[in-house]
Amino acid sequence: METVIGIDLDNTIISFDRILHASASELGLVGRGIPVRKDAVKQAILERHGDRVWHHIQKIAYGLRMEEARLIRGAVPFISECLRSGIRVYIISHKAELVEVNGVRINLRNKAMQFLKKRFIIGSETDRLNEQNIFFEPTRADKLARIAKLRCTHFIDDLEDVFREDGFPETVTKILLGHTTDSSWMTCPTWGKVSQYFFG
Ligand SMILES: [Mg+2]
Repeated sequence: METVIGIDLDNTIISFDRILHASASELGLVGRGIPVRKDAVKQAILERHGDRVWHHIQKIAYGLRMEEARLIRGAVPFISECLRSGIRVYIISHKAELVEVNGVRINLRNKAMQFLKKRFIIGSETDRLNEQNIFFEPTRADKLARIAKLRCTHFIDDLEDVFREDGFPETVTKILLGHTTDSSWMTCPTWGKVSQYFFG
């Protein structure tokens, strides 16, 4: 069977750790001692300030400050290696289209697309993706439907909740980028480990 790899975008290819941490600490919402990690910032904000504030910080990070985001080490070389080897790759992201933050309307999908072009993940070379390989979906259910429709054989995501969804297509191999104690899926703490799995 042909290998088709689907990959999540936010916090799988692009890291928002630093922006989330900076956005929250600049507003005095978390102490500077909080680790520079999305999950740590999220937990601290939810505990002290609740859901609304967490949503606000996310809009700032994924919208207003998107340009400051960083690529996670190894993600782009992996995608390039796949494409050079003739493996199809899709980026499939659950992402709202429009948000309003601090009175500014922002198209989050355009922001993400611009970022991918600027960082040469999208490009005309054979080891770069086309715009047609990028899918933004309005809900998680739509994301799962897209994974099935594109006949992905593997899906790589940073969120275990995605794999736990009832609608996650059964035949797709789940690869978690991160750490877990759950042995229900393959876990790779780094993109180097993902590469090793596919290319040895
Ligand atoms: Mg993600």
